[in-house]
Amino acid sequence: MSGETMTIAPHGGTLVNRVVDGEERRSVFERARALPSLALHPRSVADLELIASGGYSPLTGFMGQADYQRVLHEMRLADGRPWPLPITLRASDATPLRGTAALAGPDGTILGLLEVREVYTASQREEAQLVYGTTDAKHPGVAQLYTQGEFLVGGDIRLLARTRPAFPELALDPADTRRVFAERGWRTVVGFQTRNPVHRAHEYIQKAALEIVDGLLLHPLVGATKDDDIPAVVRVRSYRVLLERYYPRDRVLLAAFPAAMRYAGPREAVFHALVRKNYGCTHFIVGRDHAGVGSYYGPYDAQRIFQRFRPDELGIQPLCFEHTFYCRRCGAMASPKTCPHDGDARVTLSGTKVRELLRSGELPPPEFSRPEVARVLADGLKEVVV
Ligand SMILES: [Zn+2]
Repeated sequence: MSGETMTIAPHGGTLVNRVVDGEERRSVFERARALPSLALHPRSVADLELIASGGYSPLTGFMGQADYQRVLHEMRLADGRPWPLPITLRASDATPLRGTAALAGPDGTILGLLEVREVYTASQREEAQLVYGTTDAKHPGVAQLYTQGEFLVGGDIRLLARTRPAFPELALDPADTRRVFAERGWRTVVGFQTRNPVHRAHEYIQKAALEIVDGLLLHPLVGATKDDDIPAVVRVRSYRVLLERYYPRDRVLLAAFPAAMRYAGPREAVFHALVRKNYGCTHFIVGRDHAGVGSYYGPYDAQRIFQRFRPDELGIQPLCFEHTFYCRRCGAMASPKTCPHDGDARVTLSGTKVRELLRSGELPPPEFSRPEVARVLADGLKEVVV
C-alpha cells in the first residue's frame, strides 16, 4: 500500500493547496502590488495560512454568506458538510474591495490575494450567541469578535508569502505531517490539541490512546491565546523535555498548530478534530471542557456535540476522556471511571492554582506534574514576568 492511500482522506476528500510558488509567484506579486489592499489582524493571517496549506480543507477562502449562515445555524457548510466555526474576514471599510484585493500583514507586507466574491453584513451578537453560546463581552472569543469590523468579505484566497513561524522547526503543514505518518507507517494517529502544558493527567490520556493507535501527534496551538495562558515559548520547552524523558521517540510527532484560540468550547472541539483530520489524524482526544473558558460551557458539552454528526461525515474518531488525576490509594493515574476512592485521595489542582504556584517559584507535586516539566515552567514564567 502506498503512503498516500494509507493516510486518512482530508475533510472533503482533497487537501486544499492555495499556495502560489515558483515562477508564477513573481508575476502574481507584481500584480498584487498595484491592487487595493486589506491589512489583516494576526488572527486572520493565521487563518489565511491555514486555508492555503489545507489545514481548513475543504475551505478555499474566507466564507461567503451562504456558508456563514449555515455554519452558524446548523454547523454545516452550504453543501452540507460538517463545519462548526465561521472562518471569516471582517473589515470596517469594504468600499475599496472589488474584484481582486491584496491581503497584507499587520505591517503592510503583502501576503496573498483575495478574489472578492461578496461583501455582506451580519450581526456580531447573533454570531456570538450561536458560536460561543453567549453575548457576554467578558468571553475572550466574543470580546475578539466585537473588536472586528461590520463587513464580511467572502472569496477564495491565494497565499504568496508566509509569515515567519514562531517555531520554524515545528512548522509542519498538513502535507508534511501526512508524509511523516506515511514514512513511519502509522495507519492510525491520535491528535492532541492543547494550549496548556502537558501535566500527568494529559500524559495519561495520551498514553491510554497510544495503547490502541500507532502514533501521537502532539499538536499544541501556538497562535494567539488569552493573556493569562502560559506563553507558547515556555510551553514548547516543557513539551520537549517531557517527550525526551517520558515518551517513546518513534511514536510521537511534535508539531505546532498555528491557529488562534477562539474559546468556543464544543464547536471548537469539532473544529479542532476536523482540522486534525486534515493533518492526517484518524483519532482525536476530547477532554473535559475542551476549548472552554470560565464556566461558559458544561464540562462534557464538547464531547456530547460530536453525537450531532454521523461518524462517517466527520471521518475522525473522537476519543472522549473524563477528568483524570493521580489517586494516592490506587497508586496510579485514574479517572472516576476507574477509581472508587474519594476526593481526598485524588491529587487535583486547577489551572489557575498551578499557574499561581509556578509564578511564585513553587513546583506542583510530582503526582500532578513531572518535576522536569514543572521546573521548565517555573523558570520560564519567571523570565516572562520579569
Ligand atoms: Zn483511587
